Amino acid sequence: MSKKIIEVKNLVKNYADFEAVKGINFDVFEGEIFGLLGPNGAGKSTTLEIIETLRSKTSGEVIVDGINLDTHPNKIKQIIGVQLQTSGYYPGLNLIELLNLFAGLYNQEIDPYLFLDKVNLRDKAKSKYKEMSGGQKQRFSIATTLINQPKIIFLDEPTTGLDPQARRNLWDLIKDIRNQGTTVIITTHYMDEAEVLCDRVAIIDNGKIIAIETPDKLIDNLVASGFERPKELKKASLEDVFIQLTGHDLRAD
Ligand code: ADP
Repeated sequence: MSKKIIEVKNLVKNYADFEAVKGINFDVFEGEIFGLLGPNGAGKSTTLEIIETLRSKTSGEVIVDGINLDTHPNKIKQIIGVQLQTSGYYPGLNLIELLNLFAGLYNQEIDPYLFLDKVNLRDKAKSKYKEMSGGQKQRFSIATTLINQPKIIFLDEPTTGLDPQARRNLWDLIKDIRNQGTTVIITTHYMDEAEVLCDRVAIIDNGKIIAIETPDKLIDNLVASGFERPKELKKASLEDVFIQLTGHDLRAD
């Protein structure tokens, strides 16, 4: 098995007297796409923001690529890439200006066009952020996570609100990034997405991890327990119909 790139041990986060994260343990392996799933309020963002060094923890231990969060948070910052919510960009700047701005924050000299190529947005180089579609904005925000050549990127619901073609396009992009050696941590509310994209998922509820496994194994375990879907499933879904009729090609995405 490959090396542990994130180790979370007995992590607790209290907000005043409310326990948002209740002593969770998990590891992420190098080169994985690891999904953190759970209902709203489960504690996903709190957990990720602690690992990302953006939020303090109450207790427990977090090690990222062998670096202890308590002693060297700045070293962790240097090896991770974090996706901003789409509201975090200056709407009036174009993509090149935004990439240069981010590179400046990381103290890096970059060729912004190379980063636009990675996410297939070279033709939008001079477009303003606010002029892009939802899918283009998401692709761009993924490009910004790659600027410091991170070992790990964190993606927070990267496909929410996108049409089926744009979602599939983003899945391919995320797989490409992983195939080039970057570990990916992702949150999503789309279980079909977690099933096709994630090597392993942790399901978190009420601040506790209630399952951690490959999607395949979780499904097999449920079936083995005697679970059956209430009605026989058709061999295709409405989403299959939609993709079949409209094709895989991106529109404005
Ligand atoms: P998720 O990302 O799974 O939706 P969060 O980590 O955002 O969950 O929140 C977990 C719980 O902690 C929720 O009940 C939320 O209301 C609470 N919470 C999150 N941030 C704060 C905060 N800054 N102050 C108080 N409570 C918070």
